[in-house]
Parts: sequence; C-alpha cells; structure tokens
Amino acid sequence: MLIAHKIALNPNNHQATYFAKSAGTARFAYNWALAEWKKQYEAWKADNSLPKPSQQSLRKQLNAIKRKEFPWMLEVTKNAPQMAIIQVGEAFKNFWAGRAKYPTFRKKGVHDRFTLSNDQFSVKDSRIRIPNLGWVRVRESLRFSGKVLSATVSRVADRWFVSVTVDTEDSPKRQAENQGPVGVDLGVSALATLSTGEKVVGPKPHKALLGRLQRLSRSLSRKEKGSSNRTKSRIQLARLHARIANIRQDALHKLTSELTRTHDTVVIEDLHVQGMMKNRHLARSIADMGFYEFRRQLEYKAQRRGGLVMIADRWFASSKICSCCGVKQDFMPLNIREWICPDCGSIHDRDTNAARNLLAYGLAALSCSTASSAGSKACGEEGSGRRRKTAVKPASTKQEVSFVPI
Ligand SMILES: [Zn+2]
Repeated sequence: MLIAHKIALNPNNHQATYFAKSAGTARFAYNWALAEWKKQYEAWKADNSLPKPSQQSLRKQLNAIKRKEFPWMLEVTKNAPQMAIIQVGEAFKNFWAGRAKYPTFRKKGVHDRFTLSNDQFSVKDSRIRIPNLGWVRVRESLRFSGKVLSATVSRVADRWFVSVTVDTEDSPKRQAENQGPVGVDLGVSALATLSTGEKVVGPKPHKALLGRLQRLSRSLSRKEKGSSNRTKSRIQLARLHARIANIRQDALHKLTSELTRTHDTVVIEDLHVQGMMKNRHLARSIADMGFYEFRRQLEYKAQRRGGLVMIADRWFASSKICSCCGVKQDFMPLNIREWICPDCGSIHDRDTNAARNLLAYGLAALSCSTASSAGSKACGEEGSGRRRKTAVKPASTKQEVSFVPI
C-alpha cells in the first residue's frame, strides 16, 4: 500500500531559501498551467479542431517558453514546475470524477510546496538529496521500506517538511485483537462514543488555545504592513496554528490506532460535514476534530491490519432510533443528551445509543451480505423495528496516500 512519511527537515539558510524559491516556482507553474488550461479548453469548446489541453501538452509548452519568458525558473529543479503541471492534470481528473471541486489557483503562503519524482531525489539515513542543492538533513530516517515514489517538500509555519511516498512492502501489522465489531459515534460533546459505552474526550485544541490565538491575531492586525514586527507576529501566529493542528492530529491518531488495534470491524456514520458546518455552533468543534481525517486514518489503519471499516448510509438516523426496541423518534434536537424511549422505557445516553445503532447496522449488513451470498435472503429490505435498511458502503479500498505522524 502507499504510505507517506512526513519528516521534518533541518535545512540551513541557503537550503531554506532554495525551498522557498522552488515552492514559488511550483506555485507559479501550477497557476500558469491552470489559466492556460481554462483558456485552451474554452477555445476547444468554440472550435473542436483545436487540441484539448492536457498536462503533457502544457508541460511541453512551458518548456518551450520558460528560457525566454521565465528565466528565473531555471534557478531551481525542473521538477518543481513539471510536477506542478502534472498536479493540475490530476486536479482536473479528480474534478471530472466528482472527487474534487474545480481546481483553484494556489496562493502564496498557503501550503507552499513542491514535489519531486523518484528519479530526482534519494534518501539515505537521515539525509535527502535534492537536485541542484545537494544533501539536506532530515530529523529522522525513513520508517518504511519499499519503492520510493515521490517526495513533497512543504512549509508548515516557518518549518520545512518532506513527505516521502513509499509503496511499502512492509508486512501487514498484527491483526486486531478479537474484541469484535464496534460502533463509533462521532460527536460534539465527546470526540467519539463507542457502542461499549466508552467515551473518548477530544482535546478541543481551539478552545484551549483560542485566547492566545485571538490575542496574536489582534496584535498582528495592529502591526504596520511590511514591518519586521509584522513578520514576527505572522510567524508566531502560524506556529500556533501548526501547534493546534498537531494536537488535533495526535488525538485522532491515538484514537484511530486504538480502535483498529482492538476491534476488527469499526462502524461509523457517513457524516455530512459540509451540512453540519453551516450550523455555526457546531462548526468549531467539527473543524477542531476533523471528521474526514478521522475516517481517512481509520481506513488506512484498518487496511494494514486486515480490518474492516463500515460506513453507515448518510440518511441512517442513528440518533433517533431506540437501540433497545428499534422504534424511531420523529425529533431528536441536538440539545437532548439523554432521553427515555416512550415505547420501551429504556434510558439512553444520546451518543452511546447512536453508537449502538451503528453497531447493529454494521452487524445487520454483515449478516445480510453473508446470507445473500448464500442466496437465502434479499438485501436491503425495509422491515419493521431493528431490521432496517442495510445497504452499507464498504470503506474504499483504493490505495490512498496516508500520512504517518511525525
Ligand atoms: Zn425503545
């Protein structure tokens, strides 16, 4: 499977300047190619005899003009603009496949990065060799063995990192302990609630550091534009943002590692985060916790252990159903944390009940898929009570680049 190891770099000043220049060149090439793509596509729409744009043709086009028009591009590795244009092609591919929005221009200072193809760099112990630059020290040696595919050098606050993608041959991790399937409800009051009743409280980094964040933002806005004090403030603020992101990432990694280590099947809901983000009160907690990141980690970690992640249908009303008798309530406003089922009298903790429903949903889907493969039962029948809709979307098994914490 593809896995990416992100390692902090230890560049000297000269090397850091080279990174910034390469990232700038990559951004320029990306934006240039995106603009050209739009222009050429419009032209093709008007006149079908013209060629359709492609990353190959745009790379050729840039190569033909860069010496004359953008001579500064030659100061850094040719890989920086080339890979950026390949990424424009990928962005369009993802857009057409419905996996991503229409590509947008890159902005300076927002995820500055450039990518190298595997023939352009080499990693040895705690060093990486970058073209036109030489060896740069890294903080730790590569954790995975296998075919090295690419490396992306990126800036986070004022630090540089390299993320090396490896097609790893590492033997899969030990199988999950046999604690069976578990339902996990991701929530607002707790990071996660398990069907076992256990609650995992998230770190909510924003809440704790929000005061500092506000103070720093205010102080930044008071500094004169272009002043060195403003630069200092900006770096401080970026560092704080990076720290918050690290706290969040760490908590998620701990949770997903624990879940996949102890349970072979994890059932979660398909959260419509975009819709939930529209609710201002929910937005911060959800942004803090990163649900998509949670799901991504869970999926790749389960895959490494041969486990299964099941995603319940988006419309599955995990909070409204009584996990004891299966009767569905009409309303379940978010402020209700505990309720009594009017039909069977069970007292429910909102989140634990939802997690139990998710587990039941997963179990039903599992037994349904084995039963239907034996040809004895049709899947997805709407029944009464506990046997509800059982269509389940298995976690995607496509190879995804996954990040390992630093
Ligand atoms: Zn009930």
